[in-house]
Amino acid sequence: MALEHPAYGQVRAVTPTASVLLADNPSQMTLDGTNTWLLRGPGSDDYVVVDPGPKDKKHIAAIVEATGGRIALTLITHHHPDHTGGIDHLVKATGTPVRSVDPKYLRGEVTALAADEVIEVAGLRITVLATPGHTVDSVSFLLDDAIVTGDTVLGEGTTVLASTAGALAEFLSSLELLLERGAGKALLPAHGTDHADAAPVVQYYLNHRRERLEQIRVALIELGQEAGAFEVVRKVYADVDKRLWPAARSSVKAQLEYLRAERGS
Ligand SMILES: [Zn+2]
Repeated sequence: MALEHPAYGQVRAVTPTASVLLADNPSQMTLDGTNTWLLRGPGSDDYVVVDPGPKDKKHIAAIVEATGGRIALTLITHHHPDHTGGIDHLVKATGTPVRSVDPKYLRGEVTALAADEVIEVAGLRITVLATPGHTVDSVSFLLDDAIVTGDTVLGEGTTVLASTAGALAEFLSSLELLLERGAGKALLPAHGTDHADAAPVVQYYLNHRRERLEQIRVALIELGQEAGAFEVVRKVYADVDKRLWPAARSSVKAQLEYLRAERGS
């Protein structure tokens, strides 16, 4: 019988070229845990690993076992520790080069990832899409039949936005790009389950962001235009578990900044 998400400690095949190993680090922010994607083109003995996951020796050992240690390249979707913590254990075990946007995570004789770069490796053609919003260094990896989205688009729920200036405007552009390039391709997220088609999930994200923005616009009429992020969270995220409010606050900051920039222009 085919495995289903979440399948801790087992390699679960998802597409002809992509399998997933789920790290055992579930939490409110990581959902069931971090998905480490193992990619291999037809006829290739080598793998590409996307996101080694947290600093967890057992998870790294499972990656090494699943790939036979033959990792031509490891790619990083963004700098958060639940994606990058395991890098050095994996490099030590396999010697894999590691590429990311953030120079801090480069390992081996490599360069930082560039937007729209095409990487041909392990029988795969991988296009790097810059998809900032969750973090400034967030990227997605486009394959022939799938798109690996990191934390930009998750399998369930929605993504927390960086509270940095421009994060929401960037995030909305990233979603438009993912909708355009990912339609008809499988969605392979870093948390939560995969989906056969990325388009409806990305569309849900776009709708959700527009809805929240509208709710915040309305809340500001009542609270006053200079209301603080936490006041807005209390009002707009009243339906959301309070333990998620600190994360919501980051997203609200990004949305307030977006609305204020809009009014200022
Ligand atoms: Zn994450």
